[in-house]
Amino acid sequence: MKISNPRRIVGSNAERTRLHNRQVVLGHVRERQPIGRAEIARISGLSTQAVSNIIAELEEDRLLIEAGRQSEGRGLPVLKYRLNADGAVALGIEVRPDAMFGALVNLEGETLFTTREALPDNAPSTVVSVARRIRASALEGRCGKTQKILGAGVVMPGPFGKVGISGAGQSALHGWEDSDPVAVFEEALDMPVVVENDATAAAVAERVRGVATGLRTFCFIYFGAGLGLGVVAEGEVQRGAFGNAGEIGHVIVRPGGRLCACGNHGCLETYASRIAARTRLAGAGIEIGSASDIENLYRAGNAHLMEWIDEASGPLSQAVGLIENLFDPETVILGGAMPDAVLDHLIASLDLPGGSVAARAGRATPRVQRGSCGRLTAALGGAALVIHDTITPRIAAKT
Ligand SMILES: [Zn+2]
Repeated sequence: MKISNPRRIVGSNAERTRLHNRQVVLGHVRERQPIGRAEIARISGLSTQAVSNIIAELEEDRLLIEAGRQSEGRGLPVLKYRLNADGAVALGIEVRPDAMFGALVNLEGETLFTTREALPDNAPSTVVSVARRIRASALEGRCGKTQKILGAGVVMPGPFGKVGISGAGQSALHGWEDSDPVAVFEEALDMPVVVENDATAAAVAERVRGVATGLRTFCFIYFGAGLGLGVVAEGEVQRGAFGNAGEIGHVIVRPGGRLCACGNHGCLETYASRIAARTRLAGAGIEIGSASDIENLYRAGNAHLMEWIDEASGPLSQAVGLIENLFDPETVILGGAMPDAVLDHLIASLDLPGGSVAARAGRATPRVQRGSCGRLTAALGGAALVIHDTITPRIAAKT
């Protein structure tokens, strides 16, 4: 699987400038709404005339609406604008080896629709037909004359491209090795598509509406089929040179330890992941499918599941220490396809290393905490990425 052109910016210079200025105006409106033209012009450095033209265009596109006039001391009350929350929507789709999740969010990031569909196999043709079904049910009765669809964020487990850990066992999507997911989903969904890995999308979801709201630098350990790491540093997601940064699951935590599907021995994923839990339980004759199977076992106090949590906590503690020393995050978030109760138990049983840059007095946030977006976190993140791309300038100075 290869991403041909992630987060592309197309068009002539003039077109790019126009799109950039639209993002600048939308970004200022989101941060300071309700806000008037003169104030946007002053903050952005654009001329008042340019701002007026952009606002007219954004009103036409139903992304902005008037928010009434407000007096600002002298002179006539000023006409203010705000985002038209329901004027536009974005679709998020997460593809996991055994299921697909869909979410529809509006311009303010509010969730309008969610769904889960079982996935019988990972062949692109199967995934595409389920994606079309999700699109149809998400948009049914919406997006007519009053709602614009901005695009879709499709979330898949990495790694992207043929690398040394491609196709590593149960966490990989099989059959996508030679496909370009951006092209496949743009054709299937008939809308612009961005493709992102699950851990990064989950981190974005937590920043837009979850426990990372207001944080600028944090990490997200994502329990998908395998284990991924999303890194947000200074408000920007970190992708690496080929979109594969954060393959924490294949970091070796026990040299000479268990054989991993990637060929290494002692990878984190063989101890602390759904695959590890599934393997542990299968050894005791217990088959698990969805996260709710794990939840039921946890509620019943299943001894094998408890032993797995004990076993996972050491390697996971070591990984958190490693992440802290590498990225100096404000916090490390755990989330994804694990029941909240299991994540809470895992967090409570961590024995975090004292020798870490994160072990300091006066912390404003805990070193490790659970995410709040639940099992839909990556699908919501996919949609949030589209919203983020619409209203955040990509090359402007941060505000
Ligand atoms: Zn591995």
